[in-house]
Amino acid sequence: MSSNKRLVGVVPLGDVPEIALKVIAAHISGYYKLSVQILPPLEHPEYAFDERRFQYNAGIILKAFESMRFKDYEKVMGILNLDLFIPIFTHVFGEAKQGGKFALVSLFRLGKNPDGSPSPSSLIFERAAKVALHELGHLFNLLHCREKRCLMHFSGGIQDLDEIPLYLCRYCSDFLKNRLRRQPDNEESLKKLDTIPLNRLSSQERFRQ
Ligand SMILES: [Zn+2]
Ligand SMILES: [Zn+2]
Repeated sequence: MSSNKRLVGVVPLGDVPEIALKVIAAHISGYYKLSVQILPPLEHPEYAFDERRFQYNAGIILKAFESMRFKDYEKVMGILNLDLFIPIFTHVFGEAKQGGKFALVSLFRLGKNPDGSPSPSSLIFERAAKVALHELGHLFNLLHCREKRCLMHFSGGIQDLDEIPLYLCRYCSDFLKNRLRRQPDNEESLKKLDTIPLNRLSSQERFRQ
């Protein structure tokens, strides 16, 4: 049996600045009140490199995570400093399977302002925290929110990301609180999630940016 402790693993893939991992972990524990552990780094995900796009395929990395399982953790966030894509988008800041166990956060495009100028590190960390909390929200089954002043509002570019706040709207916040009051997800409940609600979504909706 898995324990009832809600534990989130934060795992770097390849070379990721330690401070970024710490900022992400601190936001997850401070804002969502979950226990967080930073795990030893996994190897650079060469297997997911797409030679035509010169980017890394987020879906392939998430699949690799499934085979690793991380059984002591309810949710696992992979952090990388590589350019991620999914086939329907030119790039993504992060990727998560709705209601699933694994998510990715890419720092690669967070370092520049919309005009191309470099951003201060405080802003880069704020963006990384937003992407991480947004993706973790998807793992706890939050959908995209219409409210512009909500962390779960979709952001397609850096400007959108800077415009959304680092907090959830009241509706999403209540949803998440409710969700976290329930038993932690274990392997069984995740299997059910995979086979029931997700099948009713289109393939585009199954993976949330
Ligand atoms: Zn919301
Ligand atoms: Zn999203």
